[in-house]
Amino acid sequence: EAYYQEAGRGGRDGEPARALLLAENRDKALHVHFIKRDELDPDLPGWLADRMAGGADGDGRYALDAHALARDLGGDGDRLRALIGHLTRAGVVSPTPSAPDRVAGRLTSRFDTRAAALCRASVEEGARTRWRQYREIWAYVEQDSCRRRALLGHFGDHSEPTGTPAGRCCDMCDPGLVPVPPPPDPVALESLDDAIVSVATGARPAVGRTLCSEILHGARTKKIERNSYDGLPAYGSSSHLRRADILARVDELIGDGRIETSGGAYPVLRVSSRTAA
Ligand SMILES: [Zn+2]
Repeated sequence: EAYYQEAGRGGRDGEPARALLLAENRDKALHVHFIKRDELDPDLPGWLADRMAGGADGDGRYALDAHALARDLGGDGDRLRALIGHLTRAGVVSPTPSAPDRVAGRLTSRFDTRAAALCRASVEEGARTRWRQYREIWAYVEQDSCRRRALLGHFGDHSEPTGTPAGRCCDMCDPGLVPVPPPPDPVALESLDDAIVSVATGARPAVGRTLCSEILHGARTKKIERNSYDGLPAYGSSSHLRRADILARVDELIGDGRIETSGGAYPVLRVSSRTAA
């Protein structure tokens, strides 16, 4: 939603605008991780309502230590803010402006069965919204039709885009628009090369090119555990890179003759005699 809003804003002055979305497949797992991390236990609204009631004066006014609450919730302030939002929507509390380290407001209703049900519905709605946004943005990333039309459609404009845009349209209509990624950082590359060579030298039993990339990427597989490859100094040292890129670099080093593969049905990497000398 934020992306749509920003992209929509970009063209508001009538001047040509370009929206650039940086997305990689591995961001999906991160996205899922954040959604799951923000999932709220159904008991938490009641827990927070109890804390607020416990700290309230005779008029139902409360002012609690935000840090202590956030800590007891086992997270940062996001979870606390989300819960207050659910309690507010359920009509249990009415927050008042307060210093950032305080949570203040007034209790407006008891946390009874009805309030609990309203909170549960609000929590579920929040989670549904997040998953819907997840599906929407990745559908947008992965679609193979015009992105301009998708953006216009999001804002309720389902007519065929009028005329062609003044400049170029989108990377689907005009593949030349996709920016060329910058070349890899030479320092990072050098340490990746060293890491590849160290796995080719140090892994016992010796490993093939795919397993070598898995080790550098920090993969958790039975094979890696069984052979204690996760104890190699280079294990996981390139977890910030994509495995396909690591593998491509292994192949380049083989091409350059810095390392070589043995023959046989299960070829393994070894340092070429030239490098070892
Ligand atoms: Zn287009």
